[in-house]
Amino acid sequence: MSKAVISSLYDSDVFRMACRQFDQAADAINLAEDIRDRTKYPRRCIAVSLPVRRDDGSVTVFEGYRVQHSLSTGPSKGGIRFHENVTLGEVAALAMWMSWKCSLVGLPYGGAKGGVIVNPRELSPTELEHLSRRYMQELIGFVGPQLDIPAPDVGTNEQIMAWMMDTYSNHMGHISPGVVTGKPISLGGSQGRREATGFGVAHLVGKYLEDMRIPIAKATVAIQGFGNVGSETALALSAMGARIIAVSDYMGGVHNAKGLNIKKAMAYVQYAGVLKDFEGGEAISNEQLLELECTVLVPAALERVITEKNAPKLRCRLLAEAANGPTTNAANKIIENRGDIELIPDVLCNSGGVIVSYFEWLQNLQSFYWGRDEVLEKLKGILDKAKESVEYQKRKFKFGRRLAALTLGIARVAEAKQKRGLFP
Ligand code: NAD
Repeated sequence: MSKAVISSLYDSDVFRMACRQFDQAADAINLAEDIRDRTKYPRRCIAVSLPVRRDDGSVTVFEGYRVQHSLSTGPSKGGIRFHENVTLGEVAALAMWMSWKCSLVGLPYGGAKGGVIVNPRELSPTELEHLSRRYMQELIGFVGPQLDIPAPDVGTNEQIMAWMMDTYSNHMGHISPGVVTGKPISLGGSQGRREATGFGVAHLVGKYLEDMRIPIAKATVAIQGFGNVGSETALALSAMGARIIAVSDYMGGVHNAKGLNIKKAMAYVQYAGVLKDFEGGEAISNEQLLELECTVLVPAALERVITEKNAPKLRCRLLAEAANGPTTNAANKIIENRGDIELIPDVLCNSGGVIVSYFEWLQNLQSFYWGRDEVLEKLKGILDKAKESVEYQKRKFKFGRRLAALTLGIARVAEAKQKRGLFP
């Protein structure tokens, strides 16, 4: 039998990491050989060049991607990242993880992801609007409420989703709010979506601490990344009674063993743009933050920050992966062998975001809107069920928790592909 070799198109450390995770999970559940490659590799990718008129009259051409990993179980779903280090391989890995995540928590979606190579902080608001609209314009034939539904990720936000929705709607000739999620509430966004990912992380952290018999009031928390996910996780955990002792962003972090005032830190970042010089504590580097002694460590920024170098030095009891792919495969092995750290894997830990995006899409399709309490209660119900199924899989097969979550997600996607046939 000839073996498919996917082109070097996606080749990168992070794509290889996602493929290795897939291979391990496929081996663990004896996934049939003839279904493996088509479950593992993305269905398609779109690369676009994006000319943008700058404020000084010049034109810069940016490069963007959209990878649709799977369309077998519904439209594909996943965020759009604006970051200077975006690569096609990174977008493909993130799209794969979206497939396993949606499948694990039972959403009728395949995975996708998008990205543009740009530092959004270097663009004016007008330039950012032009770039966002141009990206959506280039994708018009490939996205839609029944085809592929983008959302915010690193470097994008509600305003960018509003511009993208408007561009798509103008093209269609009617408003089409269901084409993206994470929109402002005034344009069909869902109550609870802004805080959904962080709220979900905090909810799961609370549940796992209960299992570990650690009272939340005694828990200390360090969080890397203070954007949408990191700040909302901090806010929710501090509301639950935990002490947030460190937070950071791309410029570095702030540490206070007595606890930081998260509302003040968020207000400071709103005004200053970064945590730097926030007066609530001492300056700390991102590397130092990861190695702090704490009950809960939450990477909430980018991939591959917990490596074989720092994994032996972690001093947390619970590692809650709010970011996608924050732990390399080598580091994951070290953590498992150490045996003193519980891990909530990314595909479960940060799934609150896509779950409430799903609610937003449902509300858009029905033009019938829910209250915040209803959204968050439904979110907790889905997270609790997913946690239970992961714990059952872990116990039943004596898997690590990441393997348990991945095998559940991957098996369902593979089964859907098997039952449909070769095309989807
Ligand atoms: P964001 O752009 O709102 O925030 C990112 C944060 O990370 C910022 O504080 C930024 O300064 C910081 N950061 C960037 N580079 C860094 C570095 N090298 N070191 C330390 N900090 C750095 O993005 P976000 O939406 O909060 O996403 C964060 C993570 O969560 C990503 O991995 C994303 O894929 C994942 N995620 C996001 C959502 C969502 O709903 N937004 C859902 C699921 C998963």
